[in-house]
Amino acid sequence: MPVFRLDKTICTQSTITRKQAKELIKCGNVKVNGVIEKSYDRQINWDTDILEICGKQICLKRNIYIMLNKPEGVVSATEDNRFKTVIDLIPEKYMRKGLFPAGRLDKDTTGFVLITDDGDFAHRILSPKRHVTKTYIAQLDAKITDAMINEFSAGVKIGDKFQCLPAKLELAESTSIGDVGKVVICEGMYHQIKRMFKHFGANVISLKRIKIGLLDLDNNLKPGECRELTEKEIELISFRDEHYLD
Ligand code: URA
Repeated sequence: MPVFRLDKTICTQSTITRKQAKELIKCGNVKVNGVIEKSYDRQINWDTDILEICGKQICLKRNIYIMLNKPEGVVSATEDNRFKTVIDLIPEKYMRKGLFPAGRLDKDTTGFVLITDDGDFAHRILSPKRHVTKTYIAQLDAKITDAMINEFSAGVKIGDKFQCLPAKLELAESTSIGDVGKVVICEGMYHQIKRMFKHFGANVISLKRIKIGLLDLDNNLKPGECRELTEKEIELISFRDEHYLD
């Protein structure tokens, strides 16, 4: 049962500093279970107590896991001088210190980004040893050939140095500008998918991540929207799809 002081609870569950938390408590802006609380050291049970700051209820939990449908033009970073970041898209109700994207998508890539403040969890799913699978839909300016499909499954060589692990490439659709491929990879190198297709002279016109591990991007999330993951979904994200090459 997680129990912490009121001032500590406020500043770990929001972007408020300890000093500001004390000020808010002192001024009567903090309610616990519907009653104004003025003691900084009041013990708060994160499972059962209801905390409100300036009339807004705060979700009390150790860590938060958010599925974001990243739009184009937004960078997968916590701060950027020029562009909007994925953290800028997080609504106030989920905002707290230490949020970061667990894994990066290029600025022009759209789709599933996991935002969390749980460094250990992020480390586990990003670890190259775990090979968590990621699934993408890629619009190409070229046809998908048998040679591409076979080389993807054997492991494409990018440049002189890098040998990719086996990946799955499937034809999803043919359009007037080129084929659309569904790609599953189990690593995450810089521009990996674009570079894999470039190896065959094909350009990726648009790229969307639709799945991490065994968890699909929620189709109800419009670009720029996000929601919290359930416990079951947090589990699904950390498994690799063992049959991705079938
Ligand atoms: N591969 C890419 O080329 N870009 C991404 O954003 C993700 C995978």
